[in-house]
Amino acid sequence: MKAARPTVLQPGATIGILGGGQLGRMLALAAARLGFRCHVYAAHEDSPAIDVAHAWTCALYEDRDKLAAFADAVDVVTYEFENVPAEAANFLAARRAVLPDPAVLAQTQDRLIEKNFVVDLDIATAPYAAVGSAAELAAAIDAIGLPAVLKTRRFGYDGKGQAMLSADSDPQRAWEGLGGAPSILEGFVPFEREISVVIARSHDGRTESFDVAENVHRDHILKVSRVPAAVSPELAARARDIAARIATAFDYAGVLAVEMFVVRDGATEQVLVNEVAPRVHNSGHWTLDGCSVSQFEQHIRAVAGWPLATPIRFGDVEMINLIGEEVHDAAKWLSVPGAAVHLYGKREARPGRKMGHVTRVLGWSR
Ligand code: AMP
Repeated sequence: MKAARPTVLQPGATIGILGGGQLGRMLALAAARLGFRCHVYAAHEDSPAIDVAHAWTCALYEDRDKLAAFADAVDVVTYEFENVPAEAANFLAARRAVLPDPAVLAQTQDRLIEKNFVVDLDIATAPYAAVGSAAELAAAIDAIGLPAVLKTRRFGYDGKGQAMLSADSDPQRAWEGLGGAPSILEGFVPFEREISVVIARSHDGRTESFDVAENVHRDHILKVSRVPAAVSPELAARARDIAARIATAFDYAGVLAVEMFVVRDGATEQVLVNEVAPRVHNSGHWTLDGCSVSQFEQHIRAVAGWPLATPIRFGDVEMINLIGEEVHDAAKWLSVPGAAVHLYGKREARPGRKMGHVTRVLGWSR
């Protein structure tokens, strides 16, 4: 069946969001500000996006009846996480426009396919090799050397599905620790910093990227983003150009994030692409309070066929994630002048769970 064509939505139209997490919640809030309604499709009723949606469906992605009814109830479908099963996205796409195109999901759900795609665009990544057998693992270590990072091809996030290999590791055991799943071995990158570019692309192919964010991870989970990143204007332009080339090559509609490593070799700085996320991204949360348009509004504009805004940053901005029990720090942040507190309404503060975030525009005065 042919994919349904996207149209330009009018205020009052309903945007369907696959996934009920905090990204869906912030998308729904941005949509409401532009006069749209959102219908969230999520696996659990206890989902942050459902709290702020006009309507919701709680069902599995395999439930064809529920998917069909969801498609009938909305004017366009988008998603807030990249592990939406391809079958569900394709089933919906035959009934309603799904943006970004589900083909992008197939390419970004698998690290090997994603890396091949990026390299084919002549964009640099860490050296990598496919690992599907003990022999391939040995060959990959020979080719790439150690230290290296073993990553499952699918379903990895926040450092899950990854193992660091050094000279004294037992590679076979490390791979077994990842369930022996199809994986890639990636050369360890001695990066100077990690950066990301969040970019929006409209139906008609225009792009608008936000200023480059610098990201600090703790236990593999994003803790702080600072904008602008402490990189040269030339490097920032290069990073933004990489993101634009990736978005264009995907013929993308919506917001996309590209995570990159900055590597210094003497006076030369190099950018290596680490990962592409076909969705709004944690490193773009600063735009909610630190910019004239948020990444969430840009995404809604893009999937609605509306013109993108040109983002104007309000100053130096910092975003701090509240992870697990840190959610209780929210009370402290509420009285910090200039701090904006965002809580996702999650009932249980499990370790490593993103519970909320704080943004601060620095360098202002009262
Ligand atoms: P990922 O899930 O690929 O985004 O990896 C999570 C984090 O692990 C990254 O943000 C880095 O901090 C670290 N990491 C991943 N791959 C590498 C690598 N090849 N070299 C060094 N650090 C890495």
